Amino acid sequence: MDFHVLTLFPEMVSGGLNTSIIGRAIDKGLISLNTINIRDFSKDKHNRVDDYPYGGGAGMVIQAEPVYLAYNHLAGQIQEKTANQDKKKPRVIYVTPQGPVFDQKKAQELSEEEDLIFLCGHYEGIDERVLEMIVTDYISIGDYVLTGGELPAMVMIDAIARLIPGVLNNEVSSEFESLHDNLLEYPQYTRPEVFCGRSVPEILLSGHHANIEAWRREQAIKRTYERRPDLLPGANLTKKEQEYLNRLVEQNGQKEGQKTK
Ligand code: SAM
Repeated sequence: MDFHVLTLFPEMVSGGLNTSIIGRAIDKGLISLNTINIRDFSKDKHNRVDDYPYGGGAGMVIQAEPVYLAYNHLAGQIQEKTANQDKKKPRVIYVTPQGPVFDQKKAQELSEEEDLIFLCGHYEGIDERVLEMIVTDYISIGDYVLTGGELPAMVMIDAIARLIPGVLNNEVSSEFESLHDNLLEYPQYTRPEVFCGRSVPEILLSGHHANIEAWRREQAIKRTYERRPDLLPGANLTKKEQEYLNRLVEQNGQKEGQKTK
């Protein structure tokens, strides 16, 4: 997968993603990261890319032209790479608080693309006309406003990249973790066996894989019920697991009842 980022701060994106697991995946050629500085496409003698908003109001707006020229330059690079192949145009994601919120399902969907272009805004955003011309997806990372799109693009790239085969050392580790099946992951433990008087749950030391699996599923259900009950309607539970969840709900109801007495 080739990630491309249109940004005013390329060093922030490459600096943030060139380390640890994602950095190693780039070194191994499993993914690539191409940053394009929108400012390089400014025609202003001082390299300015922003201007006052028409109609007044606070802040500055990134102009349409440098974004459009940067995009065309990138589209040319991608076309050259895929020459003679009948490829569809890559998706262009404008990271913005005005889009639906990014989640694991979206990460999975986007991990199947060959190229992805991220467009990062700054200041008050980007001139609407160029967005209408080039953007295919509007995606937010949450209901809050950041100063720029670089962190959101990095968040999405990290979440997508780790789903690409080979990026994680252990192939199974992205399959059995939080949100995979609309469940949060079970609690994890490592050595030592006792820490500050707290022991690792005995079952994990039993070596009985089927029992450990069953315990982990129950813990995942319990944790999801306690911390993110909103996820449970989308979880795929067996009849036995659903009964376990019903018992948890019942016990919780009894506790709540005792509190109000
Ligand atoms: N005035 C814009 C609005 O109200 O929608 C917000 C602009 S924000 C200060 C600057 C840039 O940061 C945005 O253009 C966007 O690229 C990025 N950004 C801010 N918050 C974001 C979020 N929650 N998700 C994704 N991108 C975000």
